[in-house]
Amino acid sequence: MRVRPLSVVMALVASAFVIIHPAAATERTVVKEVFSPDGTISRVRVVEPPSEPAPLSAVAAEVVPIQQTGPSASRFDLVFVGDGYTASQMATYHQHVVNRWNELTRIEPYRSLKDSFNVWQVNVVSNQSGVDNDPSNGVRRDTALDMNFWCGGTERLLCVNETKAKQYAASAPQVDQVLAVANSTKYGGAGGGVATSSGGNAQSGDIVAHELGHSIGGLADEYDYPNDLYTGSEPREVNVSVYPSATMSQYKLKWYAYLGRTSPDGGVIGTYQGGYYHRRGIYRPTDNSLMRSLGRPFNLIGLDVMRTAIQRKAGGVV
Ligand SMILES: [Zn+2]
Repeated sequence: MRVRPLSVVMALVASAFVIIHPAAATERTVVKEVFSPDGTISRVRVVEPPSEPAPLSAVAAEVVPIQQTGPSASRFDLVFVGDGYTASQMATYHQHVVNRWNELTRIEPYRSLKDSFNVWQVNVVSNQSGVDNDPSNGVRRDTALDMNFWCGGTERLLCVNETKAKQYAASAPQVDQVLAVANSTKYGGAGGGVATSSGGNAQSGDIVAHELGHSIGGLADEYDYPNDLYTGSEPREVNVSVYPSATMSQYKLKWYAYLGRTSPDGGVIGTYQGGYYHRRGIYRPTDNSLMRSLGRPFNLIGLDVMRTAIQRKAGGVV
């Protein structure tokens, strides 16, 4: 209840901003995470994708439980919505959702904490099969969530109308994270409030694993582009720091208690130069974790934070 007054204030601030800067409202841009098949992650700024809502009469959809392990209040609820699946392709959609969940639960801590999740599949039916700009730029399709490759001019950036995705996801009992899957085999995805991935592409599971690092664990990105020197203050995220290991140990800062320990992503915990979109002036705990590249495990710090967050939600011992 305490957050409500703040939300009101934020809403007022947001409206004031739009009124004072009408040009900014029409040219609004957003930053999206974009992923490469070689595991590289980067960010691009794109004009905000269309976000007009779907008519309320259209968004009531059947919800299929993929797994329900307990009450939503004490589970992390993942809600899948699909795009570009016609009424006769619901079996394909189901298979894509199951595959994505299976891929995710091959990675720790999702594997050992699998039972702390409820997973829901919302049967979103599209008029046409496939999504925009697949297989090539310029191909258009009439789909429920307006998903499209070539978002902002980047081929593998797969965007979605987030308003519509959330409207459909609301058919599920509770939503902690919305995952939009496109009926496609083309590699692609995007991070954000609604994480997207290509339903028929097995590599896309790692995208979800990384995005949940942000949304469940509040973890920072550990990749170091596109900027050079970081000159800001100490970030609040637990897995990046302006302090080198000696300072960290001396003043008991950030991951000092982990220094020298072996990490699941290889090597030992230290302070490795670069991260948080900067090459210098900031450190990450290991050389190359899942918060830096896809196809990698979480490092020990990320893993512990994820475990704690998931177990706290599930009411377990932390
Ligand atoms: Zn990220």
